[in-house]
Amino acid sequence: MEADFLNILGLIRRQIKSPDAANFLGDPSLKESLGKLFQIFFDFYEFSPAALVLVDRSGRILAANLTLETFSGSVREELIGRPLYWSVLEADRDILFLTLRKIFKSKKPASCELRLQKQSTAGTLWVRFDGIYDKDLQGHPACRAMLVDIDRQKSTEADMARLAAIVQSSEAAVIRLDPTGIITDWNPAAEKTYGYRAPEAVGRHIRLILPPGRGREVDKLIGRLSDGKEVRTFETVRRTKAGRDIPISLTVSAIRSPLGELTAVATIEREISRRKRLEAERNRLIEALYQERLRLEAVFNQIPAGLYIAEAPSGKIVMNNKKAEDLLGHPLIAADSYQDYQLYGALKPDGTSYRPEDYPMTRAITDGEVIVEEEMCYRRGDGTLTRFSVNACPIHDVEGRIFAGVLIFHDISQRKQAEESVRQVQRQLTAKVGELERSNQELSEYAYAVSHDLKAPLRAIRNYTDFLVEDLADTLEREPRKYVEGLKKALGEAERLIEDLLGFSRIGRAPLEPDPINLSDLLKEVKSMLRLPSDVEMIVADNWPVVTADRTLLMQIFQNLISNAAKFNKSPKKCIELGWQNGQEDRIEIFVRDNGIGIEPRYAEQIFRVFQRLHTQQAYEGTGIGLAVVKKAAVHLGGKVRLESAPGKGSTFFVEIPRQMGEG
Ligand code: ADP
Repeated sequence: MEADFLNILGLIRRQIKSPDAANFLGDPSLKESLGKLFQIFFDFYEFSPAALVLVDRSGRILAANLTLETFSGSVREELIGRPLYWSVLEADRDILFLTLRKIFKSKKPASCELRLQKQSTAGTLWVRFDGIYDKDLQGHPACRAMLVDIDRQKSTEADMARLAAIVQSSEAAVIRLDPTGIITDWNPAAEKTYGYRAPEAVGRHIRLILPPGRGREVDKLIGRLSDGKEVRTFETVRRTKAGRDIPISLTVSAIRSPLGELTAVATIEREISRRKRLEAERNRLIEALYQERLRLEAVFNQIPAGLYIAEAPSGKIVMNNKKAEDLLGHPLIAADSYQDYQLYGALKPDGTSYRPEDYPMTRAITDGEVIVEEEMCYRRGDGTLTRFSVNACPIHDVEGRIFAGVLIFHDISQRKQAEESVRQVQRQLTAKVGELERSNQELSEYAYAVSHDLKAPLRAIRNYTDFLVEDLADTLEREPRKYVEGLKKALGEAERLIEDLLGFSRIGRAPLEPDPINLSDLLKEVKSMLRLPSDVEMIVADNWPVVTADRTLLMQIFQNLISNAAKFNKSPKKCIELGWQNGQEDRIEIFVRDNGIGIEPRYAEQIFRVFQRLHTQQAYEGTGIGLAVVKKAAVHLGGKVRLESAPGKGSTFFVEIPRQMGEG
């Protein structure tokens, strides 16, 4: 172009300067004006904001102005004679090729947009290429073109495209209104939120989605914006196509002309039903938590024991109830770590001090120990010494880590005092029982000695009486004979009494000999020894258990109970029933039941004492020792006796003994 332009310019100049020029120009000032005009034209041409270029059929640059240097980053010497393609981004070279071909073929103007590639930097520049068909100086077909910088326009377009894409893909409804409230834009999210498709909404007034009664809301809003005021975000309600009112958050932007006139209103609308629901749910939870806390505090303060909660692992006391302070007799001493527990000055029951790591709370939070009913001494605020029973345990989080410890304590001073009094009474009782046992033992020794010693003189009296009866058999008068008979009878009773007493005294003198005893066999033996009269029927249960007990004592129990059941019985058919049942723990309860005369319940205890009889010797023979033997034997076996009876209703004697002597 330069060459082209300069050539033309040179030609004109030469013609202007030639002597002939004055002839056809006439006025010399015209010559000067023309010179200036060409200079201006030259500057305008050279420094045009558009690159001006002349290319031949193959795209080779024949001439170019200075602007092409700027656009392409190459100097003109390099550009001239080189194809324009070289300065075009490779991807856009086809467009240029097609455009040039069109121009040369049709000889009509054609345009395209392409990117120039800067030689020095890797940067590109969008240009619009407008070419016309022309001829070069030699008259060959050429294309004269203008390349205008459209880079900024292009990037604005790209920005706009990006923005449109954002609006399209936005999750919020984006709606644009003209200043009269007519919808001009309606993105997919708006379709989704309100249920109207874009073609249904665009062109309608925004009242389309306003619930009745809110119509003026938008008018006011546009009014404010028209007045130049701004409207930010606010919450309101919109109605969907389905007629449902939904809460939304609305952000409004005014779009204004450069003169500040309102040209459009853009709104971003978000449905906030979910947020509203979440807010309501959050408020409900906060309220529930608050109530829970109140309840917890009430529980804390009403627990009838002192309570502390400490953080782990520091031991910092974070909570205590009122009762704790009442029990200590002073307000809480702040403890930031378990080292501070020593400020409380608690003592162990033996009077020694605790080391910080020995405190129940410390052990609970550091070792995870659960402390149950540990005693602690404490000097209260008023100086009195109290005893506390302390329970402490760790509190674990869901992962099993100890994050706190709780300690509960209560005053056991009174209980301790009561326990001490009980112990004292027990000691006194034990002493008394010892004394009693000793005197009982002495009594027993005495009874044994007496009955033993009485046997010899009694035997002598028996012998002499027998001699007397023998010697005087024929001579005796009737009266003295009656006396002698009486003497013999009384002697027999005395002997039986002494024998029974001796038997009673013997119980417990000899060491016990526990053996496994089959009660069924034992009862058979007792039955054959007793030789019961024929009018007595004995019904014995099956399946007697084997017990470990002293055989002699068991024999004595059964002998006495069975013979009494037969003796104190006037039924025509005397019936004795023997059985057993499980007693408490590992014990059995044996019973002997009869259909005899029965006993008044008020004598139920008395009859087990020595010499206690309810009848005369004439009515029923006996010494009054049998049941005393039963009771003493049962007690020595580790058992006890009881009676169920009523006059005329028969009697049942129960003897409870352990299955294993020395146990139960
Ligand atoms: P004894 O049989 O020598 O009289 P016990 O000590 O065996 O002495 O009995 C004391 C008293 O208990 C008896 O005298 C009798 O009154 C009463 N007794 C004992 N067993 C029975 C019984 N099975 N039925 C009614 N009374 C009984």
